[in-house]
Amino acid sequence: MDSLLEKNDKAMMARCVELSRIAVGKGEYPFGTVIALDGQILAEAINHTVRDGDVTRHAEVIALSQAQKAIGREQLRHYTLYTNIEPCAMCSYCIREAWIGRVVYALSSPVMGGFSKWNILRDDDISGRMPQIFANVPEVVSGVLAREAQQAWRDWNPLAWQMIKLRGLLTEPPCPYHDHVHVRPAHSRSLWHYLQILLERTRQSRVETQAPDAQENSHL
Ligand SMILES: [Zn+2]
Repeated sequence: MDSLLEKNDKAMMARCVELSRIAVGKGEYPFGTVIALDGQILAEAINHTVRDGDVTRHAEVIALSQAQKAIGREQLRHYTLYTNIEPCAMCSYCIREAWIGRVVYALSSPVMGGFSKWNILRDDDISGRMPQIFANVPEVVSGVLAREAQQAWRDWNPLAWQMIKLRGLLTEPPCPYHDHVHVRPAHSRSLWHYLQILLERTRQSRVETQAPDAQENSHL
């Protein structure tokens, strides 16, 4: 990892850890997600599962919604999604469908993770067979600020954290090297993906062209 990328990764993960502490203050579990490019944050979120009484309101999904509304998924292939805990299967599916180009997390989730448990983040089959829906496999980096992420969980509830550790629910990623950070490179895009990007651009420009007419009509 080059030093600027590493510096940005650590800064963005530090924000995720900070968000996970903010989440606890709001009565949520300690999860925090940031979507960014070159250290510039596009979207960030904490879980809303407790406050909304809705198990689908994970930080990653909320941040992905904001990001897609802001710039559209075609641009998201340039962006990195940072999160303190490995994304679950549901969030990993959304990450692949939203075309995120890179995923960075601190702690692995061997029981619930969308990479460690179910290989959704690195599954070539879904993008190979349905390139119109799923982006190619993103780069996945794990272990960034793992100690800081663990400390936030320990501070949230020391007893619960002991149980989580004993059961192996959250762990420091395996294969530690380069200061415990593990990088799995992205897979290259197929011809189908280039075609899909072209179609997406054409569709977006058509929507933009039509938008003023639609507005005018609404006033009639
Ligand atoms: Zn999730």
